Amino acid sequence: MRDQAAGPRVLLKRLRELMAEALEPQERLDRIVREIASNMVAEVCSLYVLRADAVLELYATVGLNPGSVHLAQLRLGQGLVGTIAASARALNLSDAQLHPAFAYLPETGEEIYHSFLGVPVLRAGRTLGVLVVQNRTKRHYRDDELEALETTAMVIAEMIATGDLARLTRPGLELDLTRPASFSGLSFNEGVGLGHVVLHEPRIVVTNLFNEDTEEELRRLDDALGSLRLSIDDMLSRRDVAFEGEHRAVLEAYRMFANDRGWVRRLDEAVRNGLTAEAAVEKVQSDMRARMLHMTDPYMRERMSDFDDLANRLLRQLMGHGPEVLAASLPKDAIIVARSMGAAELLDYPRDKLRGLVLEDGAVTSHVVIVARAMGIPVAGQMKGAVSMAENGDAIIVDGDEGRIHLRPQSDVEAAYAEKVRFRARRQELYRELRNKPSNTLDGVHVDLLMNAGLAVDLPQLAESGAAGIGLFRTELQFMVAATFPRAEAQEKLYRDVLDAAKGKPVTFRTIDIGGDKVLPYFKNVVNEENPALGWRAIRLTLDRPALLRTQVRALLKAAGGRELRLMLPMVTELGEIFQAREIIDREVRHLSRFAHDLPNILKIGAMIEVPSLLWQLDELMRTVDFVSVGSNDLFQFVMATDRGNTQLSDRFDALSVPFLRVLKQIVDAGKANDTSVTLCGELAGRPISAMTLVGLGYRSISMSPASIGPVKAMLAELPLAKLESFLADAMAKPGAGRNTREELVAFARENNIPI
Ligand code: PEP
Ligand code: MG
Repeated sequence: MRDQAAGPRVLLKRLRELMAEALEPQERLDRIVREIASNMVAEVCSLYVLRADAVLELYATVGLNPGSVHLAQLRLGQGLVGTIAASARALNLSDAQLHPAFAYLPETGEEIYHSFLGVPVLRAGRTLGVLVVQNRTKRHYRDDELEALETTAMVIAEMIATGDLARLTRPGLELDLTRPASFSGLSFNEGVGLGHVVLHEPRIVVTNLFNEDTEEELRRLDDALGSLRLSIDDMLSRRDVAFEGEHRAVLEAYRMFANDRGWVRRLDEAVRNGLTAEAAVEKVQSDMRARMLHMTDPYMRERMSDFDDLANRLLRQLMGHGPEVLAASLPKDAIIVARSMGAAELLDYPRDKLRGLVLEDGAVTSHVVIVARAMGIPVAGQMKGAVSMAENGDAIIVDGDEGRIHLRPQSDVEAAYAEKVRFRARRQELYRELRNKPSNTLDGVHVDLLMNAGLAVDLPQLAESGAAGIGLFRTELQFMVAATFPRAEAQEKLYRDVLDAAKGKPVTFRTIDIGGDKVLPYFKNVVNEENPALGWRAIRLTLDRPALLRTQVRALLKAAGGRELRLMLPMVTELGEIFQAREIIDREVRHLSRFAHDLPNILKIGAMIEVPSLLWQLDELMRTVDFVSVGSNDLFQFVMATDRGNTQLSDRFDALSVPFLRVLKQIVDAGKANDTSVTLCGELAGRPISAMTLVGLGYRSISMSPASIGPVKAMLAELPLAKLESFLADAMAKPGAGRNTREELVAFARENNIPI
């Protein structure tokens, strides 16, 4: 039987020799196309390269008019060549001129050729050009010939990617590989970052393309596939699957694909054609990626990207790469680009080198996003296609404010963003100067500015922001970024670290507030809730699972030995819940004192005001607890019946409208009447205009994200409080209908030169 792979193998061998020879790039290309034509018994072989202006330019040919090289051009999508490039799919035609897309280029003299085989030149799924062979006769090219041409195209892709052809490009023109690209997605964390791409899953560059011994390569491939299957089974059998960000369904898909016969057959074929096992994986992966980019069905795209991940794993098996991050080789302005990643993986990167994070998937509530926010780095998400368009080291801008990224940006875009970053930096400088100044209004009234936190990475912000303490420590974040319930020791350690870092400044720990949109992958509600925001969450859940609360309370009591402990209960609806929680807390205190543990010297218990029912029992509430804190995010959601996560509704109702302002005032007044301290720790506290309003209503303690402390303090310093109080008293006494109180407040700030 004829060895169908002999042809491609001989061709690859010849190409390898040509690559090694010291040749001018044009000469090398000319010899390559001649070699391909003769090997495939074709009368024509031509290479078109895609330029940044979306034009495919003829770079080399044998058989077509040599004078048309660098002159013949087709737009992306135009003619057969343009169609191949646009669709990233091969075309195999016995009579090219009958194809509806056929476009005749008179300068090439190609009218005498009928059969046509063209393949995209692909690298990591991106089309860099098109390689074509043609014959006079009306023949149909065999599958193995198609395969051989695709393999050859890989070698050419490598030449283009390594910049070999750059010298052949006319001045003013650029190849597509360096084209700027912008993507729009969602804003996951604000801020702007300029830097260089670091692919979280580094694309493994296969440089060793040609195999010396096919049987040996097939054996290597087989071994690697075997280990891959084993490692997937192993991951599936582990309990902490969710922690790695690889949910069971994805792993199941991996397992299915790793055993997919079609995939394995294509890999085998590529090795038989002369490629190394690595190059074979890369070739098949590249075909997949190209198809993925043109797929519109989100389900299919998702499955194809699973395949892509799997191919990466296989490549790592073959090349012996671990997923380790080489901190030393990281640029000092790294912007991590990933399809998705686990929270712990982000923490592995050195913070001082991170300038931003780009995710193809993810949601605002993803753990990695929560951590990134705590680290204060801009995050843009849902950037479909970003990974395959980015190369390690490419310049990139993350615009976390708008949810956009700019890859290889043009200089004017870069200059505009650099200005934005400088402007922010100047403002930060200003805030830093305010850091150690008291947070007083223009007329000397003091307001406590506290910060919200939840993870150990937040702690340095306490000193940097100049916050007076931690007004809300969201303990559930530790639970949300963990693989399983954090053990009592781990909880205690975190709480102790927090109190140590606070150096005597007050810290208010909120008991775990899970449920609603805060889900723990390892702890699911057995009931499928239709309205999780109104469901089994926060204190409702912990009172039903008292062991959870007991463990946490014990850890907190131990961590705060000899110091003050402020405990706050979330989502309280009726006072009975506070009594029940108190009983649990008292029991833990008795238990620890029985074992002679060092107990907190002061224990204060507070409640969050988030559920409107408390508004009609404010006096009793204030007498029951030591302090209250208004959770304006939830309170607004429930008072206005408006889902806090629904972007469609986010601008519809205003927290600065008369009804909600009256609610807020009622609470602060009840606090004064009962001598109970009142804080507000929702997002409202962090925006200067709403912070100004809160202070005007009587709030003297507000807690916000650390980044907001500077702007709010700057606002306070210019605020004539007495004037605002009388302005607000008037404004709230008037009927609210038809008025825009926010605009009135903004006008007040402008008239009084208050920076908002
Ligand atoms: C709130 O609801 O305002 C609040 C501070 O709690 P969280 O945002 O964690 O629900
Ligand atoms: Mg809340």
